[in-house]
Amino acid sequence: MAAEVLQRIADQVYRLEDRFVNLYLLDLGKVVLVDTGTRRAEEPIRRGLRELGKEVQDVSMLLLTHHHVDHIGTAAVWKRESRAQVDLHALDAPVAARRERRRTHGTRPSMMVVAALMGVFTPFMRGPPLETDRILQGGEVLDVLGWPIEVIHAPGHTLGSCAFYARSAGILFAGDAVNGRQGKPEPPIVVEDRHAAVDSYRKLTALNAAILLPGHGSPVRRA
Ligand SMILES: [Zn+2]
Ligand SMILES: [Zn+2]
Repeated sequence: MAAEVLQRIADQVYRLEDRFVNLYLLDLGKVVLVDTGTRRAEEPIRRGLRELGKEVQDVSMLLLTHHHVDHIGTAAVWKRESRAQVDLHALDAPVAARRERRRTHGTRPSMMVVAALMGVFTPFMRGPPLETDRILQGGEVLDVLGWPIEVIHAPGHTLGSCAFYARSAGILFAGDAVNGRQGKPEPPIVVEDRHAAVDSYRKLTALNAAILLPGHGSPVRRA
């Protein structure tokens, strides 16, 4: 039997590693995806759903941390096949819909190359334009199939980056506002607003969540 694609993080929370990026599945009866990987994550997600004993039609909500192609890559698939609701911040929604473009910068000279490559490869990696169903602002508490999840606007990596905080479970989905290098938190290396990224990184790490789940790297567990 093939290895399982899902890694259990906590009750009802699973991690799926799609190449270099993480996405998370919440099994709350119906399924919520926190980010959706690259376009090529479609098959692994279908496998993950099967591992949970779910159907594609069970995917009911997509909480997107930001507009980058490695996070919204399969969103259009679930929106089309299961009418999943797409949630994204007001400042990133026009980028996902391709009504607006953004420039990304490296935080160090060596990262300028990474930022430039992202610009070059993005058109090849992205799916179709994605319309957001529920625009997020930050500060709201979502009722996610009975789970209260706080939306924390964490701008910098992108202007509309958000983290999602399931406070009662102590779980923080940080997107790319915090990276997890071998279980240690690190600030993002590519940004749309460098100063905001530093502030957001501090704000999120100061929450001292029991488990911080980053977009890249491994989970950061409170020591
Ligand atoms: Zn990103
Ligand atoms: Zn990313």
